[in-house]
Amino acid sequence: NYKELEKILFSMDRKSYSAYKSLKGEYKFEKYILAIDHVQSDPYAPPSKMRIIMDRKICGIPYELTDTKDKNIAVSDFLTRNFYREIQKSGNDSAGTGGSGRIFIDRCGQEILERTSVLIKGDKVEVRFEMGMPARGRRIMGKAAQKIIFEQLPEIVEKSIIYDNLNKKALNEQVILVLDQEYARKILKEKGLVAFVANDSVLPRESGVSDKPMKNAVKFKSPEKFEITLKLPSGKEVSGMGVPKGITLIVGGGYHGKSTLLVALERGVYNHIVQDGRELIISESDAVKIRAEDGRNVEKVNISGFINNLPQNKDTRAFSTENASGSTSQAANVAEALEYGTSLLLIDEDTSATNFMIRDGRMQKLVAKEKEPITPFIDRVKELYDNFGVSTILIVGGSGDYFDVANHVIMMDEYVPKDVTEKAKEIAKLDENKREFSSNDKFKGVTQRIPLKKSFPQFGKLDKTKAKGKYSILYGKELIDISGLEQLVDDSQTNCIAVMIEYFKNKVLDEKLTLSQVADMIYERIEKEGLDSISSYTGHPGNLALPRKQEFCASVNRYRKLKIK
Ligand code: ADP
Ligand code: MG
Repeated sequence: NYKELEKILFSMDRKSYSAYKSLKGEYKFEKYILAIDHVQSDPYAPPSKMRIIMDRKICGIPYELTDTKDKNIAVSDFLTRNFYREIQKSGNDSAGTGGSGRIFIDRCGQEILERTSVLIKGDKVEVRFEMGMPARGRRIMGKAAQKIIFEQLPEIVEKSIIYDNLNKKALNEQVILVLDQEYARKILKEKGLVAFVANDSVLPRESGVSDKPMKNAVKFKSPEKFEITLKLPSGKEVSGMGVPKGITLIVGGGYHGKSTLLVALERGVYNHIVQDGRELIISESDAVKIRAEDGRNVEKVNISGFINNLPQNKDTRAFSTENASGSTSQAANVAEALEYGTSLLLIDEDTSATNFMIRDGRMQKLVAKEKEPITPFIDRVKELYDNFGVSTILIVGGSGDYFDVANHVIMMDEYVPKDVTEKAKEIAKLDENKREFSSNDKFKGVTQRIPLKKSFPQFGKLDKTKAKGKYSILYGKELIDISGLEQLVDDSQTNCIAVMIEYFKNKVLDEKLTLSQVADMIYERIEKEGLDSISSYTGHPGNLALPRKQEFCASVNRYRKLKIK
């Protein structure tokens, strides 16, 4: 129990760092069990992994606050943020060499994600955190360790986890908000919509490096034509812009807020915290941002709907390259998104390949159809909707050609959206340099691909697939660059993708299932057994936050040694 632990810590003072290893185990404190799952080998190594395991009765959070998955996620997120805040307030600070003496917990951003940091399950609440075991040089600071574990930690736990000490109003608010958000996302389809932006939302962010809301921003106001009112489970009625299914064009002068609107829709696949400004910006959960990504690896993707008759007769029904061009990378990104399943594509001209997006009437007259391998997106976007049920919201500020195919045209005018559909359609009618449909055949869809086991050779027994920051993953020595995935929002999602890749190659890859099916199996398991269940660690599972299937599959697709049947 804790008395013993205290004695051991004192007796360890000034001993060599490795003596800390013997602390592994569980210690009973008054209100919880402290589990020391993994002890770092030196003060500079990643901090030691620990858990607080508390009885639900002692914690006191009412069961009706956690009786559905969505509520459980909302409460776990709330407790994680609390714990983080209390660490900052506790005066906990480094005390010696390296990360000595500091307590850490996964840091939440503006989104509310399913995480491993706090687990509320059955009659237990667990907090998963880390601690830099204090040392001076390589000598243990036993008294400092005692102080952190016996003074700082209990106080942090007391203030951040025990229900009676929580800001109950804020906790309730977060739970209600998440339920409203989930409901709004669920009824989009019923209402014939793909996205919703509440009036008074704040779309722009503070800066390129801060995801907090911009102060004094122009608040969102729906054009009358698209304004609808949603009745939410909380009883709140909220009005805003409903973006209908189909093809929606966002136009407007440079710097009038087009990209800001699109980015807000990209992030609308996630739930946001109170006062984020985007709480009620809701998109289809499977919406995918599509961009050009020159240089990416592409492995046997069927891009023939967009690119055909390449020089040297290269087959585009199973197209591979180690260095995709702007247009081929964007075509591959669309094809792959259709493979995993999506109902909404989001495209910004700022990050698109022009030749993938448009080809105007004049260019069509100059360059014969047979000489141009690309069927631009403008000639597929309607088919995608009519025959495959995939809607598109896209920004094209520089070409009016899309007026012909768009169902709705929204103009951003000094950050305020206006409906200009009628006017755009009239202009389209008058046009003399009309373009022609540029393909000889119909869009036939994509091909589901089966990953092969030999894509993932063993690379050393102890090494694991590892995340390096938010935008890269190391598989052995192979770096997977995922910086093109703009809807990835959290380092812990990248961590989770790395763990999922381990799980994927060891447990579920079988050369009969497609990438999409294999991914579904992993998500099914997580749904049933929880996020912990894919981690190979016992105890503290690492800091994981659930990514979407779209980002997981996209990461696998960016792995340069991926082999396809
Ligand atoms: P566009 O894509 O039309 O060129 P952006 O969306 O990039 O324009 O926006 C241009 C600038 O205006 C950005 O710096 C953005 O932060 C700012 N901005 C966007 N929307 C708003 C708003 N509602 N209120 C205040 N500033 C905004
Ligand atoms: Mg822009």
